[in-house]
Amino acid sequence: MRYAWAGLALALLAACGPAQVNERRIANADSEPGNWMTHGRTYSEDRYSPLDAINTENVSELGLAWSYELREPRGAEATPIVVDGVMYVTSAWSIVYALDAASGRELWVYDPEVPHERGASACCDVVNRGVAVWNGRVYFGTIDGRLIALDARTGRRVWEEVTVDQSRPYTITGAPRAARGLIFIGNGGAEFGVRGYVSAYDAASGRLRWRFYTTPNPREIDDAASDSVRDRALATWNPDVGAWLESGGGGTAWDAIVFDPETDTLWIGVGNGAPWNREIRSPSIEGRNNDNLFLSSVVGVDPDTGEYKCHYQETPGETWDYTGTQPIILSTLTIGGAERRVLLHAPKNGFFYVIDRSNCGLISAGSIATQTWASGVDMATGRPIENAEARFVSRTAIVLPSPFGAHNWHPMSMSRQTGLVYIPVQEMAQDYTSDPAFVYRPGRWNTATVHAPLPEDRATRAAIRNSMQGFLLAWDPVNQREAWRVRLEAPWNGGTLATAGGLVFQGTLDGHFRAYNARTGERLWDYDNQAATMGGPVSYAIDGQQYVAALASYGTLFYLPAGFGIPNPPTEPQRGRVNVFRLGGTAQLPPRELVRLPVERPPTIRANAATLQRGAAVYTQFCMACHGFGAISGGVLPDLRRSASLQDAGVWAQTVHGARAANGMPDFTQWVSDGDAEAMRAYVAQEAMTLYAEQ
Ligand code: CA
Repeated sequence: MRYAWAGLALALLAACGPAQVNERRIANADSEPGNWMTHGRTYSEDRYSPLDAINTENVSELGLAWSYELREPRGAEATPIVVDGVMYVTSAWSIVYALDAASGRELWVYDPEVPHERGASACCDVVNRGVAVWNGRVYFGTIDGRLIALDARTGRRVWEEVTVDQSRPYTITGAPRAARGLIFIGNGGAEFGVRGYVSAYDAASGRLRWRFYTTPNPREIDDAASDSVRDRALATWNPDVGAWLESGGGGTAWDAIVFDPETDTLWIGVGNGAPWNREIRSPSIEGRNNDNLFLSSVVGVDPDTGEYKCHYQETPGETWDYTGTQPIILSTLTIGGAERRVLLHAPKNGFFYVIDRSNCGLISAGSIATQTWASGVDMATGRPIENAEARFVSRTAIVLPSPFGAHNWHPMSMSRQTGLVYIPVQEMAQDYTSDPAFVYRPGRWNTATVHAPLPEDRATRAAIRNSMQGFLLAWDPVNQREAWRVRLEAPWNGGTLATAGGLVFQGTLDGHFRAYNARTGERLWDYDNQAATMGGPVSYAIDGQQYVAALASYGTLFYLPAGFGIPNPPTEPQRGRVNVFRLGGTAQLPPRELVRLPVERPPTIRANAATLQRGAAVYTQFCMACHGFGAISGGVLPDLRRSASLQDAGVWAQTVHGARAANGMPDFTQWVSDGDAEAMRAYVAQEAMTLYAEQ
């Protein structure tokens, strides 16, 4: 009899296939808390797990259940999706893995074989934040701009669509979302120069159903869903002059795309301008609005058609890389005695917004971090009260938040027990200077903003490092008030997970994975996860056993430009891992073996102060974003101070001029002369000498 039942169950499974996720099932996600079926677990994306077997009383007994080594080094930022015992997760280079969620056994791996030269178009490492699972298929975006559908059972490709103009520096790092039989996907690339948009593809056929552009087309009608707001958006840009006419203006939607079944809206978080510098992007005209819609906004569109519904612009006339792409949580709060359907948003600019989902009206804005660009938000107009000096038009401005943001892509979560939102927050300043020599270079770093090289002096460097602070912040969204905060050792930390066990989980840049009491912030558990733990942790259950999963990797944004903020990084790339925990878990991670090669004696290059200054400027313009401030690498991409090519002027120049293009090093022939390459070598050799003297 037992066998008969088992046979029937198998037959049913075969009939429906695995991963039969649909809109009804996600809308009722609370009825199956053992699964984590979509990016933020539910359509509200509050990242609250109703599971409570792991709780404040027993979390100290949490141990490793299993660990799986990803196939590629570099950053891992994915939120794992878990459906019916299978985990679907992504790594660097847009590789997808299906794993048995109870044991970690590999079921299949799909590598979309992204050409590695495309890595040079990724501002913030070749990361991927995860998949969407829908109707037996697994959907994901690739660094080179494709959207791919796989059979969830076999990992075989069902369809593939190129969603971008691949001759331009577009990337996809964000997770698709699924609803209404559609797959929603955005893109990135605003630092290099692209025009942002969100597309909806038919989940079954892969056919494009609609597209909403987040910046207007100055030349012609797009024949897209956004056409109805083209005139309105165009009225907020300089129609005749500005780099936006070439770059497309930016406004990429590279993370938050949230489906809201309650108001029948798709919420899009829109990114920064391209270039950053508004006066070069879209020069202001006396008496004309220059807000540059829909940069740094939350935009609501109809999920079926992409038709515009409403928007709220958080940073009008964005000029500091203040994206509004950060994760969005949908909630219903009692405010002033009335129930309000709201969305909660903590974009880079340092404010925490509560926005009315019925009309995009601003309900309140609180300050979650030190910010010097604005003193508050005028509730009468909904506009920030700006500090005019922060707009670096004619002089350098030191501004908080920096382009890293007060809060970045790392998911926040909200506990239904405490009503608090748990936000990874950082405070660091940035100097911004308008680039007087800016010319638009197609496909290259195009921010029209320059930054001072890292000061020579070690004490000043240490002071800068110490001034960068990271926090786990518990925020009361109703009263716009801090409940508690924990100062973290690292200035850049991971996403959060809240659970019905009264817990908040969070990873850190320096490799901790921790659990806190959600009410008090008391630290209850601390695991050495060995590497940066950045993505959103998830919780799921199989056969009554609750698990918590978190990815660890050497990579993500901080490892590229801000390597100087990483203590003692490895000099050789390391692979990432999926680490999964349960009560009483006794598995062990293999011992960490980080390679740290000594630096060779750098060459002596004769160069006067002007040449060194020129070298530093060229380095900052073309190399810093990947190889690090002050030529200090975080260990993900080559540390040029340790590069063999530093020893030889000819090899160095060839590398700058395309000899290693297949490895992902762009060809700078058009922009960097032999003389500039040599000046840069002198600058890097000087930095290498500092390192050599220290070791
Ligand atoms: Ca950006």
